[in-house]
Amino acid sequence: MSKKSLFLYNTASRSKEKFVLPQDVDEVRMYACGPTVYHYAHIGNLRTYLFEDLLRRSLEYFGFKVRHVINITDVGHMTSDQDDGEDKMEKGAERTGKSVWEVAEFYAEKFKEDLKLLNILPPVIWCKATDNIKEQIELIQRLEEKGYTYKTSDGIYFDTMKFPRYADFAHLDIAGLKSGARIDIGEKKFTTDFALWKFSPKGSKRAMEWDSPWGTGFPGWHVECSAMAMKYLGETIDIHCGGTDHIRIHHTNEIAQSECATGRLFSRFWMHGEFLRESNLEKMSKSSGDFLTLDFLMKKGFDPIAYRLLSFTSHYRNYLNFSWEAMESAQESLNALRRKTEPYIGLEGKVESLDAREWSLKFRECIADDLNSSAAISTLNLMLADSALAKGEKSALIEEFDTVLGFQLLKRKKVEHSVEEIEKIKALIEERNFARSVKNFAESDRLRDVLLKLGAVIKDGKDGTTSWEWK
Ligand code: AMP
Ligand code: ZN
Repeated sequence: MSKKSLFLYNTASRSKEKFVLPQDVDEVRMYACGPTVYHYAHIGNLRTYLFEDLLRRSLEYFGFKVRHVINITDVGHMTSDQDDGEDKMEKGAERTGKSVWEVAEFYAEKFKEDLKLLNILPPVIWCKATDNIKEQIELIQRLEEKGYTYKTSDGIYFDTMKFPRYADFAHLDIAGLKSGARIDIGEKKFTTDFALWKFSPKGSKRAMEWDSPWGTGFPGWHVECSAMAMKYLGETIDIHCGGTDHIRIHHTNEIAQSECATGRLFSRFWMHGEFLRESNLEKMSKSSGDFLTLDFLMKKGFDPIAYRLLSFTSHYRNYLNFSWEAMESAQESLNALRRKTEPYIGLEGKVESLDAREWSLKFRECIADDLNSSAAISTLNLMLADSALAKGEKSALIEEFDTVLGFQLLKRKKVEHSVEEIEKIKALIEERNFARSVKNFAESDRLRDVLLKLGAVIKDGKDGTTSWEWK
């Protein structure tokens, strides 16, 4: 049986490309833009990290070693993409009554906890913008030496018109931008130019500021990712990822400043996760303060892994519309998967027969096609329904598929229920059947909820409950 290669969609070429490493490289150098830690991550942000986790696990499944880096943006950047507006970290400090450093520490820890709850593998390297100011200053100096920068009264800017390929990555319409309605760009030479270093306002001290050859201030946002990606992974990396909102500005700017500084290709693949949308909201925004967190889902009784499953029901390049109905149905699918896989917990086995190897190949083909996670979940369900497979083989296949999906299906302890528990469920079902027979539907609904809380899912027929099982 031939083994399929992994194909990934590269935003740079707008096409699926076979993923292979250059001959002299033995691990995938992968950089994922991390969170700005002035608030909780919302479930939209988390969808992007779930996609990146799927990518990392898939690369490993295909036999690659992955050097995965995530940064923590703890320098206060502006709430607007135009390098002005309020400082996000200072805003976070005002809101919480803590120092900017405490705010950064607190939300970075919360973010790491969220990743753990979602069974997202930790990166090989975590890095922080504030720990790498020297590297950022050095990168700006390199650009300055090569003539790509200019100074205004509020900072050092990158001259985007000096990089002829600037518009290519995001397919920007530079002519349109030139002739279009002029927004106020202050002292910038062109609308797409961006700050590499911002000066602290004269006469005031900022909560976070550093000395530099150009004066006291702080680095621009884009420069941090280029400097850290190069420091931890080298001047050319294999995969750089983030959400689709980063294509136009953040990643376009990262490419410009990195490639101008080094004269080399910055990243071979660029991969972007599409947004999670919430009903009518165009996009969830942390700076608006109005957003859904993982904690909130959990308070509503959902398992974080059900959110993981929900994210994987749609392809990472498609929008996912969040609704409570979709969340409930993901929780039910997870419960069903747990029920179906429970008999295989602790079973030893190997993928040996032709049938089992075919299932493995099918699953591999789903992932090979630019991480088709929904097809991979269907394959898992179809495999579970295949009664011809030996139990041990099924167990081995569940484990294999779960290294990519990360639903922790066989990592649970088998639940042993006591005789008392079972008797209690049976008594409640009797009680509920009586309530139904006297048409006391409010009581029967209440009892159904009690049963559900105890972990029993019941099936009703015309004359009462016909069967029940553990969730
Ligand atoms: P931020 O903390 O705002 O820098 O965002 C962290 C990550 O979440 C980035 O990769 C963003 O592209 C991504 N992101 C932001 N909003 C959403 C959303 N609604 N859905 C999916 N990803 C998002
Ligand atoms: Zn970044």
